[in-house]
Amino acid sequence: MKKIYDIDDNTQINLHFSWGKTSLEYQGEKLINKQRLKANQVVSKTLKDGRELSLKLDSTGWASDFELRIDGKLQLPTDKDSVKICSKCQTKNKPNDSFCVKCGTQLPSSEAIFVTKAVNGARKVLLFLSVIFVFSGIALYYMQQPTINTALRELAQYNDSDLYPEKIEGIEMTVGELRKKILANQYLELGLNLFLATLMIGLFFWAKNAPLPALIIATSIYVVLIVANAIYEPATIGKGIVIKIIVIGLLIRGIKSALSLRQFNNANPT
Ligand SMILES: [Zn+2]
Repeated sequence: MKKIYDIDDNTQINLHFSWGKTSLEYQGEKLINKQRLKANQVVSKTLKDGRELSLKLDSTGWASDFELRIDGKLQLPTDKDSVKICSKCQTKNKPNDSFCVKCGTQLPSSEAIFVTKAVNGARKVLLFLSVIFVFSGIALYYMQQPTINTALRELAQYNDSDLYPEKIEGIEMTVGELRKKILANQYLELGLNLFLATLMIGLFFWAKNAPLPALIIATSIYVVLIVANAIYEPATIGKGIVIKIIVIGLLIRGIKSALSLRQFNNANPT
């Protein structure tokens, strides 16, 4: 991951992050050289011109971002999500401008943009989960087809009104009832997964206006699913554990950011 911070016309800071190691470069000088930062650790350096720089690895689980400050002021990297659009004249301003270059209107604070980006990152996770649910629903449906076909073939020797020779989950059933149950069950997991996918899409849109409740609900659903799966089928707990931790990390970061965003909005009502 590479980030460029254009602090002002004469100051550009480059950040490089790979395999857990962080490097920070300013005017050809390595301020930080492949250092392994701990979660929420802050590194402070003095620039040649006397300004104080601090870098913090803002981390929740495996979801992380950097907080770069110059003389205490939060800096945004130069990317399209950090562009500050003037609320009055719609001019696109640079990430670290405080006032609109065209009309002088005060721009949103860098803090507000920073937390908005984290909230949007968490919203994208909801879309990702939705796609995952659609795919797992379809995959599970096709994976169980051979078992269902075998079961139906075995039942073919009986009449619908016959009593099946074995009890199913402790209940006596006619072959007709059992056949119906098998046919209905094949759509159960597909239906559940498509329902969850729709729910996540709904929460994704709701999170645009109400990120805090939407992300809390989505996180709760996801955690309950993991726990329920683990109880029902203990082998599933380890499956995709890294992705699960990243997803939960991004969602929790989103919740924390949504909380800060609410404080900004309460402090500066528009
Ligand atoms: Zn303006």
